Amino acid sequence: MSDLHHDHLYIGGNWVAPATDGRISVISPMTEQELGSTPEGAPADIDAAVTAARGALDGDWGRSTAAERADVIDRLYALFLERSDDLANLITAEVGSPLLFSHFGQVGATGMALDYFAKLTRSFAFEEVRDGMMGPALVRHEPVGVCAGIVPWNVPLFISMLKLAPALASGSTIVLKPAPETPLSANALAQMCIDAGVPDGVVNIVPAGRETGQHLVTHPDVDKVSFTGSTAAGRKIGAACGELLRRCTLELGGKSAAIICDDADLDAIMPELIAASTMNNGQACGAQTRILATRSRYDEVVEALTEAVAAIPVGDPANMETGCGPLIAERQRERVEGYIQAGRDEGARVTTGGGRPELPGYYVEPTVIANLEQGDELIQDEIFGPAITVQRFSDEAKAIEWANGTKYGLAASVWTRDIGRALR
Ligand code: NAD
Repeated sequence: MSDLHHDHLYIGGNWVAPATDGRISVISPMTEQELGSTPEGAPADIDAAVTAARGALDGDWGRSTAAERADVIDRLYALFLERSDDLANLITAEVGSPLLFSHFGQVGATGMALDYFAKLTRSFAFEEVRDGMMGPALVRHEPVGVCAGIVPWNVPLFISMLKLAPALASGSTIVLKPAPETPLSANALAQMCIDAGVPDGVVNIVPAGRETGQHLVTHPDVDKVSFTGSTAAGRKIGAACGELLRRCTLELGGKSAAIICDDADLDAIMPELIAASTMNNGQACGAQTRILATRSRYDEVVEALTEAVAAIPVGDPANMETGCGPLIAERQRERVEGYIQAGRDEGARVTTGGGRPELPGYYVEPTVIANLEQGDELIQDEIFGPAITVQRFSDEAKAIEWANGTKYGLAASVWTRDIGRALR
């Protein structure tokens, strides 16, 4: 596995000494012991990173051709393929993701993003002539400039890449601020940028906490902010960017509904439904954690879900057979347990799980919670753990109303044998 202890930050194309002696200790979700450590980025490191990013933009990179940039992305992609086993093991150690998910949902998805953006860079019309009001108009797509990418801990490499790859594709430069929970995979990404020959200063990576993140968001020389994370943090970042009239993209929390229609083949759908609901130990923004079951088959759906969730192998995420590993931290476990307790207090029925397995690490048993109402906290809030709720709907219109009826909007699914119905 990659190095777990680091003394430098990736700024300006090299590993450089940090501005302060602050450190981040990464705690293993499995052992609750230190897994690794790295310098904690400070505002002065952000300043150095933004200066390096600006320098690269004003230099050769700012004048690079799309083909040159696609080559850089391709080289990074080739390294991802080569190092994917190592990266998957590292993510499993750092996040607690079951190894199978680390391969496909974490590292595989990251590679797909690189491949996609390399192809897009080659095919995209960076310059085109369109019909304008006064005659032909030349439209030229230029780099947005110095970008700030703020990344959460749950899918760290993939979400980093959804910010880094388009920056590379468009000829922008970027300062990434990974979450303090997952700096080790971020440093592995930094080493790949060096080994792939990403030009100096184009990518800079400064793991740090939220105050330093705020410094990056409001830095006078940043042109665009791309944030993925919680709604609360997104609201603050969006407000800061609004005040500065700075471009800003926010990808926030989710509470995605899975509508199970009356014609669904439960045996056939259950493996996929469970994978979609509990992926990454339930710590996924698009996880289908809110099951809406048709009234006529509600009991049957609850029973099938209960059986399937109770059978999920819980344990060491480094084992390929494991379906549910630990949560990222003790505070996350307490949050999930708090919601389960709130459900019990509201009269909900926990049909399986709800407790802690007898294992070291921040585990919560995979849980199914039935008999909830649309207005309940468990239905309205993102739990972000292996806890699935099941509601009973009377007709299609109600299912759609409820699926849309939270403050979130992210993903949803419809489970039926009738494709026409699914599309409707
Ligand atoms: P978080 O909002 O606490 O932190 C996300 C990142 O933002 C971290 O790097 C953090 O240090 C930084 N940050 C927090 N406050 C900041 C501020 N004021 N200024 C600058 N940076 C700040 O979220 P988290 O707990 O790391 O991640 C879980 C959340 O992310 C969940 O709500 C999940 O749904 C969401 N998420 C969304 C998507 C999506 O694509 N929509 C994908 C993954 C995760």
